[in-house]
Amino acid sequence: MQIISAVTEMRDAVERLGLGGRRIGFVPTMGFLHEGHLSLMRHARTRCDCLIASIFVNPTQFGPGEDLDRYPRDFERDSALCSEADVDIIFHPSAADIYPDRQAPSAAEIPFACGLCGVSRPGHFQGVVRIVTILFDIVRPQVAVFGQKDAQQARIIQQLQQDRGLAIEVLVAPTVREKDGLAMSSRNAYLAPREREQAVCLSEALDLARSAYAQGERSAETVKRMVGEHLAGPDTIAVDYVEIVDWRTFKPVADLDEWSLLALAAVVGRTRLIDNVNLSGVEWPGFSLRSSTA
Ligand code: AMP
Repeated sequence: MQIISAVTEMRDAVERLGLGGRRIGFVPTMGFLHEGHLSLMRHARTRCDCLIASIFVNPTQFGPGEDLDRYPRDFERDSALCSEADVDIIFHPSAADIYPDRQAPSAAEIPFACGLCGVSRPGHFQGVVRIVTILFDIVRPQVAVFGQKDAQQARIIQQLQQDRGLAIEVLVAPTVREKDGLAMSSRNAYLAPREREQAVCLSEALDLARSAYAQGERSAETVKRMVGEHLAGPDTIAVDYVEIVDWRTFKPVADLDEWSLLALAAVVGRTRLIDNVNLSGVEWPGFSLRSSTA
């Protein structure tokens, strides 16, 4: 496994791979890897000849007062995990090398960014699109894998790929969860024991919603109320939003159907967590419902 920091060196490596006719698979991450990231790598591994993972805590997707400085980092451990996951190249650039003087995209250029996390985290998706665009340009992958855990981000990248006609297959892989259901996240490391215990309510609420759908409930209002009531119990949880959108448009819906995605964000203690569920379990385009297990 190679570790490359310099953008120029990464571009050279990619050019050599291209000349050799290698199919590049790419998994962008911010590091502090967990099983969720590793499952994306396994997902990509079976679809490429050369697997590149980036580890870069992207400053432009953090707002003022967010956790950029304290975001957990452990490059040694991440490298060992990437090596076990059969990654060929870790791309670990510096912010100075990534952002010499490039322009940020304007909000208007970004599809599906105005609702949900786009409201609570203004500028976040501009930062995401900015970094993903730069990384795609450097890494030039044929396939890139994103997690359903960040559903809005994944959908935005899918749509960008379509809008810009990028020759990249954008795949969305399922959310990997802890044994009790909590979605894995690098930010779970912030949770105090009591917050960690109560955080399970997020995935419990999604399970309630999915069961209601399976039993025939089709009112978005009713399901959102049910989820809100479940999250209102624990004293460390403050709901940011509970919304049900159509996966294709990311617009809120009143009546549920096979395109309905329930997404929520909540602050547990001081840690903002997100989670979501595909209510019907129907496999959407580019979407996989099965995790790539070890
Ligand atoms: P991050 O390092 O948090 O920026 O995440 C990098 C990639 O891993 C994104 O595509 C995330 O959606 C994905 N990811 C994060 N957590 C999980 C999880 N629990 N299951 C599956 N994918 C995840």
